[in-house]
Amino acid sequence: MPDVTPYPDPILRLMDSLTCLPGIGRKTAERLALHILHTPEVYAQTLCRDIIRMKKTVCICDTCFALSDSVTCRICSDPSRNQDTICVVENPADMAAIEKSGAYRGVYHVLGGVLSPIDGIGPEDIRMKELFCRSDPRTVREIIVATNTSVEGESTASYIMDHLRSRHIPMSRIATGVPMGGDLQFVDPLTLLTAMERRHAFQ
Ligand SMILES: [Zn+2]
Repeated sequence: MPDVTPYPDPILRLMDSLTCLPGIGRKTAERLALHILHTPEVYAQTLCRDIIRMKKTVCICDTCFALSDSVTCRICSDPSRNQDTICVVENPADMAAIEKSGAYRGVYHVLGGVLSPIDGIGPEDIRMKELFCRSDPRTVREIIVATNTSVEGESTASYIMDHLRSRHIPMSRIATGVPMGGDLQFVDPLTLLTAMERRHAFQ
């Protein structure tokens, strides 16, 4: 039996592209495609332009490895932020979650992942070496390790602590208050605020 579809080819092609996005199944792609079809053309043009502009201009900060639209991100170049306090996070979404909480006024270091031997991810696969290079006791007053409370996040935190212990920089681990095994990006700002305020020294 031939594959009968009620939609013309351009709609099917857009649906195919949309299903490549995380969390978008065939049904949602169909709804989105039809929605875009019925919006004014200027909306579709703006959407396309914004996607292309984002792809062309967003890069990685050369200091903290956060997403940025310049060589050095806004936080790293902000003199009102505490440049001597580094908060280590797994990814840009976790960094954004902490920023939304308003609990933190230092700078960040985005690892770009966590250590996971079972997946073959070692220190050389994330920005661990760059963190150690930045962690100069003459310029850094505190390091807060805010990797997630998953097994990998905890072991990554331990690895960082072990390697920086000899530098005698005060280190702390983000406090409990965030759910064990959970992702920071899904935690509400108040819980994150509490977690930052009640952080404790690394054991
Ligand atoms: Zn930066």
